[in-house]
Amino acid sequence: MTDPAVARERMVADQLVARDIDDQRVIDAMRRVPRHLFVPETSVDEAYDDTPSPIGHGATISQPYIVAFMTQALALEPTDRVLEVGTGSGYGAAVLAELAALVTTIEVVEELADEARQRLQDREHEVLVITGDGTLGYPDGAPYDAISVTAAGRSIPEPLLEQLAMGGRLVMPVGRRVEELVRVTRTPTGDVSERLLAVRFVPLRGRHGV
Ligand code: SAH
Repeated sequence: MTDPAVARERMVADQLVARDIDDQRVIDAMRRVPRHLFVPETSVDEAYDDTPSPIGHGATISQPYIVAFMTQALALEPTDRVLEVGTGSGYGAAVLAELAALVTTIEVVEELADEARQRLQDREHEVLVITGDGTLGYPDGAPYDAISVTAAGRSIPEPLLEQLAMGGRLVMPVGRRVEELVRVTRTPTGDVSERLLAVRFVPLRGRHGV
């Protein structure tokens, strides 16, 4: 069996650094989180492959590169409060938690939320896993310095924009069939929107979903 640490170093070098992941904190976070523990019943090699993988209930754990790309785009500070919509396996939340002060993540499928909560509870950085409709955000923890949405919708849910702090960044795949990762940055003179990358994600459900 491949040593997970070796597989992880190879993933970082071949899939991240060889592309455009150059934020050293993101690289180190991807080095630390044991991805194979978040992908049920796959081999270590498969867990570190350059692809998304099914995790049941129509969900996927995102490709490592996409997790790194979204995390880098969020430009996290150690004091940041972060909201993730679409917990899935919990892997993305674990990566975010390496870089921010507080991570809250919401998952609509109860079984996935329960499994992710279990996986995340043994980690050093605490993550709050909420079961529910993430398109409503989580007002109790607002405002957020960063919001990461890991399922695709036609537009950015209004409640999430309401819960974004001044200076905050939100990253989400937007579109139908053809999706683009969009980043919204809140500035004193208004929200700035940028298209970053063409992507494929599972659909965002819920009140403000597709
Ligand atoms: N970040 C995840 C990837 C999850 S895939 C990881 O690292 O594994 C997208 C997830 O979004 C799925 O688990 C899906 O169930 C969830 N989802 C879809 N619509 C949602 C909504 N309205 N609220 C919360 N989660 C949602």
